[in-house]
Amino acid sequence: MTAAFSQAAVRERAAVDYEPVIGLEVHVQVQTESKMFCACPARYADAAPNCVVCPVCLGMPGVLPVMNRRAVEATILTALALNCEVPEFSKFDRKNYNYPDLMKGYQISQFDLPLSRDGWLEIADPADPAQTRRLGITRVHLEEDTANLKHVRDASGETYSLMDCNRAGSPLMEVVGEPDIRTAEEAGSYLRQLRAIVRYIGVSTGNMEEGALRCDANVSIRPRGALALGAKVEVKNMNSFRSVERAIAFEIERQKRVLDEGGRIIQETRGWVEERGVTVSQRSKEAAHDYRYFPEPDLPPLFVDRGWVNEIRSRLPELPEPKRQRFVREFGLSPQDAATLTTSRAIADFYEATIKAGAAPRAAANWVLRDVLRLLSAAHIEIEASKLKPEHVAQLVTLVEGGQLSVRSAPEVLEESFNTGHAPEQVVREKGLSQVSDTAELEAVVDRVLAAPQSAKAVADYKSGKQSAAGFLVGAVMKETRGKANPGVVNQLLRQKLDA
Ligand code: ADP
Ligand code: MG
Ligand code: ZN
Repeated sequence: MTAAFSQAAVRERAAVDYEPVIGLEVHVQVQTESKMFCACPARYADAAPNCVVCPVCLGMPGVLPVMNRRAVEATILTALALNCEVPEFSKFDRKNYNYPDLMKGYQISQFDLPLSRDGWLEIADPADPAQTRRLGITRVHLEEDTANLKHVRDASGETYSLMDCNRAGSPLMEVVGEPDIRTAEEAGSYLRQLRAIVRYIGVSTGNMEEGALRCDANVSIRPRGALALGAKVEVKNMNSFRSVERAIAFEIERQKRVLDEGGRIIQETRGWVEERGVTVSQRSKEAAHDYRYFPEPDLPPLFVDRGWVNEIRSRLPELPEPKRQRFVREFGLSPQDAATLTTSRAIADFYEATIKAGAAPRAAANWVLRDVLRLLSAAHIEIEASKLKPEHVAQLVTLVEGGQLSVRSAPEVLEESFNTGHAPEQVVREKGLSQVSDTAELEAVVDRVLAAPQSAKAVADYKSGKQSAAGFLVGAVMKETRGKANPGVVNQLLRQKLDA
């Protein structure tokens, strides 16, 4: 009786529909000339370990930090791009903890008076790309990055850690998101949108693989319809967009299983293990740090002048999501095509320039999305470094639409323009790829194809009523002419002759 009862209870619990709740904390490296509080160069990527350091970023006693104005401006610019308020008064605080990557024993960060708060970011709704979702941003604040630790196991099995202080003291923004995200896919869109924004405004490379963008995900679930939030689990160690999405999806399922089996979610930090595709417990809330925040006495508080904020605001370009929506509206593109074209500002600019140069918007979008992006990724270059110009794409579109170049030959022409920087018209001339629409010229080829022994079956099939057999014959003519024949004219000629 008891057993039967508890089984029923388990079944009932298993029927609960849970809603996932996700909030992301994203660290973004700010691209500046010098570090956050000293004159060391902030571009240390190619330097030997521990060579881009000074007493300030090494945390020597008695040194004084000096604030990097450009890093503050980059953070305010990011905050404005994320629709945040920028209060007039802000300050820095010491966040105290002991870990070898932190030489001073504290990190200069911001606690209760961050540079900005209360913003939002807009994404295309993954469930319906025609709709958008606004996801809240709690705050964007500025802090210093830590040193890099590399954990090594040598041949004898001994383990130790190597320390590189080049990254220590470089400027780092933290973007804290509201728990507004509901699916792993949405978290991916949020993160991609954030990366697109920091790239558009030029404050960061946003490169996840290099650690310029690092994301921790807070995940909880609650019965759908409930208002109270469930206990959250913070998931760390993801270093690609895909692993962020996978880790969140795993964590949601794990939490559901725990509750369905009658268990309880404990607040803890878990690490994503890429190879196994699971999260594992790192530390529970009981072991959570008390950071003993207090105001940084060596830095003056920051008065953020309204004129300064307005000047920074005037630097904002059109951002990716508004641009995407405009591309849909103005050029009649699908939401997905517009999204791909606006992921990179340079690609979006290139595309718009093809239209200014006279290309039809839908056709130009197809060429850029299909061929230009493929050529760029095969050549491992950015559009800025390419010899292909927007005028070339516009010319290609015009040649195809005007019937002077066949759709079959066009990719070859585009590739040649891409490789040489020669205009499509020139390439068509040089390679003799001009589309043949001349009836007399094509008639000779059609006659030859119809007379060929390989065509006998298709001809017989067509004559016995099988219309589709004409396709084979058109193909044969296209092959004979190396794709230069105008397929419409060929089709017409063939049918005339076969029907006669
Ligand atoms: P902490 O002090 O542990 O860092 P915060 O309340 O400051 O926690 O929130 C940090 C992040 O966790 C934010 O991105 C926030 O959106 C997210 N978050 C807070 N509570 C939850 C919850 N119950 N479920 C999912 N995410 C949450
Ligand atoms: Mg946290
Ligand atoms: Zn330094």
